[in-house]
Amino acid sequence: MPRKPAHSPDVPVPSPDPSTPSLAIDRRRAEFADRASEARFTRHFLPERNRQLKASLLFAAAFYVAFAATDFATLGDTAIARMLAVLRGGVALVGLGCFAAIVRRPASVRVSIGAACTLLVVALAAFMVVCWFQPEVLAWNAMSQALILMAVYVNFPNRYIYAAAIGIGSSIVFAAMLAVQGNLRADDLLTLVLLLVMGNALGCIAARRFQVAQREQFRASLLLQQLADRDPLTGCYNRRFLQKGLLNAELERARRYGTPLSVILCDIDHFKRVNDTYGHAAGDQVLADFAGLLLGLTRDTVDSAIRYGGEEFLLVLPQTDLAGAHALAERIRAAFAGAPGASIAATASFGIASVPAHASTPPASSEALIDAADAQLYEAKRGGRNMVCGTLAVAGR
Ligand code: GH3
Ligand code: MG
Ligand code: MG
Repeated sequence: MPRKPAHSPDVPVPSPDPSTPSLAIDRRRAEFADRASEARFTRHFLPERNRQLKASLLFAAAFYVAFAATDFATLGDTAIARMLAVLRGGVALVGLGCFAAIVRRPASVRVSIGAACTLLVVALAAFMVVCWFQPEVLAWNAMSQALILMAVYVNFPNRYIYAAAIGIGSSIVFAAMLAVQGNLRADDLLTLVLLLVMGNALGCIAARRFQVAQREQFRASLLLQQLADRDPLTGCYNRRFLQKGLLNAELERARRYGTPLSVILCDIDHFKRVNDTYGHAAGDQVLADFAGLLLGLTRDTVDSAIRYGGEEFLLVLPQTDLAGAHALAERIRAAFAGAPGASIAATASFGIASVPAHASTPPASSEALIDAADAQLYEAKRGGRNMVCGTLAVAGR
């Protein structure tokens, strides 16, 4: 018999991973539509992005200075050529300054994007000045501009919209300069403008494909992670996730910062009877309802609900003392036992083990903490079921 209304209809049942926001990609902007997802993605790729960016900055600084040779070749050893060389040196210094900023603030997304944009804008502005003073080689410089577009769109990790704005903006300025200087034949002018249009179009396509592909890969790895870490029936974490060291890490954190930590072992009472009476499918529905309560009544991204065994669940509650854990367990117990309209009556028992704040003798391991909770669960079962028992967990107990 299906168990239609959830045990407690007023408690929302969350999606399998409540901490994962929407992962839809806005293909026009080549970013995740959801800002939290985009921020998560950007943080994830920041070390890799900064590695690429630092290499590009050094490359740009070196080539800017090296190309001073072309200024002297075109203009001779003149005051203007020297002024342009100084300008190139200035761009190289800005590049090195951006490099230093990333080294000093490697965890800042803003610094990383700011560094990419700053160098590109300064370098392109300086390039326009160089081009202005070399009207006789404008066609060559148009080739250079088209190549620089590759750096803008491909080599410098940046937001797609910023790369497009810098690429298109600088090309418009360059095209305006070609027209104002007016010493090109109309057909040459048209060819060079088309070259810039093509450079930007190809650059936009390449950058957007790359940005979208990177996000699709990130999304796939998140979904895979979720499949690997979660139990499909209940949406709770699975035992494998616990075995990755979740509880040991929380225990270590509680020890280091002197914060309390509680775990609750929850076990549905006489669950075998539920299966025997109503069938396995109905039993599954009871399990899913119970898990919905656990996920709905615990704190997103702070607490963890783990399917520990068949009808046994473990709650890990950081910064929660015994009284807090007791209150939570009691709320879950009452909600599950008193679910209005539930066609299958079921109850659950709860065993709590808590490490108090600033514990002088905390349990030595996560296993010891879970054992203490298991002993309390046994007490609750022995005491008649549908009840909560708890204890302070200390080393050796
Ligand atoms: P107690 O009150 O002492 O906990 O009794 P119990 O019947 O709940 O405990 P027992 O360990 O004897 O039985 C647990 C049952 O849970 C047996 C098993 O068939 C059932 N079970 C385990 N996993 C699942 C599942 O995924 N779906 C369903 N429907 N039943 C499950
Ligand atoms: Mg049971
Ligand atoms: Mg059991």
